[in-house]
Amino acid sequence: MLTLLSGGTGAPKLLQGFARLLKPEELAVIVNTGEDLAVSGLHVSPDLDTVLYTLAGIINEDTWYGIRGDTFFCHEMLKRLGQVELLRIGDRDRATKLYRTLMLEGRKRLSEVTRELCDKLGVRVNVMPMSDKRVRTVIHTEAGALTFHEFWIARGASDKVLGVSFEGAENANPAPGVLEAIEAASAVIIGPSNPVTSIGPILAVRGIRDALSRNRDKVLAVSPIIGTKPVSGPAGILMRGVGREVSPSGVAQVYRDAARNILIDQSDKEFAPAIMELGLKVWFANLLMPDHAARVKLARAVLQLIRAGIELS
Ligand code: GDP
Repeated sequence: MLTLLSGGTGAPKLLQGFARLLKPEELAVIVNTGEDLAVSGLHVSPDLDTVLYTLAGIINEDTWYGIRGDTFFCHEMLKRLGQVELLRIGDRDRATKLYRTLMLEGRKRLSEVTRELCDKLGVRVNVMPMSDKRVRTVIHTEAGALTFHEFWIARGASDKVLGVSFEGAENANPAPGVLEAIEAASAVIIGPSNPVTSIGPILAVRGIRDALSRNRDKVLAVSPIIGTKPVSGPAGILMRGVGREVSPSGVAQVYRDAARNILIDQSDKEFAPAIMELGLKVWFANLLMPDHAARVKLARAVLQLIRAGIELS
């Protein structure tokens, strides 16, 4: 079994590739919930929904957010009524979020509701939130403390970042099944997601961090940074904000306690010596995944590496 740690854009692209090559029961996904937020009374779990929709084959691949072909009547009507939402939530997507909210109000746990949503959407892969407890990613900036969406969507990542913290993470237990998925996996892949705000919250959950470091030999991180830039999104500005270099070496620094192996782009060979000095093994592939063919190709390369290259414990 392969276990993937995921945010909501880079890792789900690679997940599409794995889903083509592996049986559903051979895959498990542990998903960031640090960006969960309330919108118009709904419990929104952006990364969980992206992973769910990706595996259900209905994700909007233009945005990696919401359902392909969705309509926005409710969002537009709310706007007309003066209720401007921070996120543009589609009508069908809103139904998922409403269902989750109702179930949580009925005292179900987030992991239970996620499993139900998987069943209802025909997803047989084991998708788990990192924790059932609330963890909040806080971006500390010169303009004050912001949530991820305030920082990125409302303010366009224009504020100088001073640091990032994860409220509630120290008291958060891994969700049911998460530790088992790490222990039982033949390899754990840290997907090419934002190391600070997508993977950072997952690693901030102590039980997960400890399990990864115990199993470090079979953990492979896939870099979301190619050269000195992220492929998309605010990972660069956030990495700088937490004192990391924006490069595959900076990614390796973030993951050095959690992963023994890192996969970097084949054009980034110059970074290998510095990464090896950190005690990581370096592997190379074409990490850019603009389309399905590229995603399957990268997933295949990762599987080959797991079968042939990585020293599995
Ligand atoms: P978020 O939850 O929407 O912030 O999404 P993620 O954290 O999962 O994904 C954002 C990260 O994905 C960024 O740091 C990007 O650099 C990375 N990313 C997006 N597309 C690709 C790709 O094709 N290849 C690689 N290696 N990284 C990618």
